[in-house]
Amino acid sequence: MTVNPFDKFHEECAVFGIYGHPEAANLAYLGLYALQHRGQEGSGIVAYDGRQFFVEKGVGLVNEIFTQDRLRRLPGHLAIGHNRYSTAGGGGLKNVQPLVANYALGTLALAHNGNLINAHLLRAEMEAYGAIFQSTTDTEVIIHLIAHSQGRTLLERVIEGLGRIRGAYSLVLLSEQGLIAVRDPHGLRPLSIGRLKQQSGGYVWLVASESCAFDLLEAEFVRDVKPGEVVVINEQGLSSHFPFPPVQPAPCIFEYVYFARPDSQIFGREVYALRRRLGQQLAKESPVKADVVIAVPDSGVPAALGYAAEIGLPYETGLVRNHYIGRTFIEPQQSIRHFGVKIKLNTVRDALAGRRVVVIDDSIVRGTTSRKIVKMIRQAGATEVHMRISSPPIISPCYYGIDTPTKEELIGAARPVEEIAEFITADSLRYLSLEGMLSAARDAQNPTFCTACFSDQYPIPLLPEESAQLGLFE
Ligand code: AMP
Ligand code: SF4
Repeated sequence: MTVNPFDKFHEECAVFGIYGHPEAANLAYLGLYALQHRGQEGSGIVAYDGRQFFVEKGVGLVNEIFTQDRLRRLPGHLAIGHNRYSTAGGGGLKNVQPLVANYALGTLALAHNGNLINAHLLRAEMEAYGAIFQSTTDTEVIIHLIAHSQGRTLLERVIEGLGRIRGAYSLVLLSEQGLIAVRDPHGLRPLSIGRLKQQSGGYVWLVASESCAFDLLEAEFVRDVKPGEVVVINEQGLSSHFPFPPVQPAPCIFEYVYFARPDSQIFGREVYALRRRLGQQLAKESPVKADVVIAVPDSGVPAALGYAAEIGLPYETGLVRNHYIGRTFIEPQQSIRHFGVKIKLNTVRDALAGRRVVVIDDSIVRGTTSRKIVKMIRQAGATEVHMRISSPPIISPCYYGIDTPTKEELIGAARPVEEIAEFITADSLRYLSLEGMLSAARDAQNPTFCTACFSDQYPIPLLPEESAQLGLFE
């Protein structure tokens, strides 16, 4: 049987960092709150006041964890934070980040988004010579690599340590000297820099997985951390280093399709505008005779608006989401996941009854959501239900930090589109083509992307020892 070896180590998360604000932890709390969609399992903030590090972590949502009391226990002008999103087996407080460790040069706190594909190998190697690990996250491997490095400065150690890592990482590190933000050479996961003007004239520097965190803080978006860039933030301001051999950038296209918030700007583009373009492209490729276009909220909405505008059909709210529950996909128990769609979505009869409906979603993973949605739309009186998906079929698992199930569970890997249409009981089903998706997303700044879950072309292919170690081909 094939297993997804990365379940235990999944790290599709949010990171946040702030340098130079008297209420650093309060701002980190707000930043993490804006980034809640990237991880709902647990959160942590580490603050530094020039003398001491303070750590508060918990399991659950940001606003449940950080009470006034806990925020008061995080004094200091520097802070980093993390929201964790994990699949089964990766739970528990011990895996909640930021991780904090003492090493030869002082103290280090680390928040990581992404998934390392050689973490198992590095960990086994380090354990063989006596290293003791406290968590089961791959992030701890980075801490050990930095701690064991012979570099003279933290920057040298970070560069040497990260040089041994393969996979996806957007990192924020906090030390006595300030912050370090790093994006892996392929730039798989997003990471942006923002700033807040101080009354004194200087700047408070911010680092966040997505720019929506800056908007909440009324901070200015400055730029993305570039693929392979190491940004040091200290009392001298910002300095930039490119210590790794350059590779072809591969930012994750699925961030645009589904994961990032539509009000964010990532990889140099507005997510909302890009999702609309995906919908327009889908309409060009796969129009349909119908009366109304609706979206599967929330992630399908911008693409549905683009589709409706392009095809000249009215857009209506045919499905309404209850926002007070998490994304069903994240729920670890099967029972809740299957129940999920009904708890989350309801139909608006007025928008659907007696009409030929085109329903737009961003992706199909297992197919269970789409099947239930098509059924619900028919029950609300639609005469035809045509499903259009603003990305290609998902055919392969993600090794770089987005939670996709094993190949066997991916309906797009197992069946041709006609069979999927039958399974979800739609009158027709079309996906956006890979070329169409890329043509909507490509620009001068991002000529290439990771599309591995859609194309099976992995920008960092697993080496045999990595797959063997991981039991991928059992
Ligand atoms: P499924 O029922 O497994 O086909 O799930 C498809 C739905 O899950 C779509 O509405 C997507 O918006 C959503 N989705 C896609 N990828 C993910 C993910 N990594 N985490 C949570 N939800 C997802
Ligand atoms: Fe993103 Fe898919 Fe690549 Fe994973 S495999 S990084 S989800 S494009």
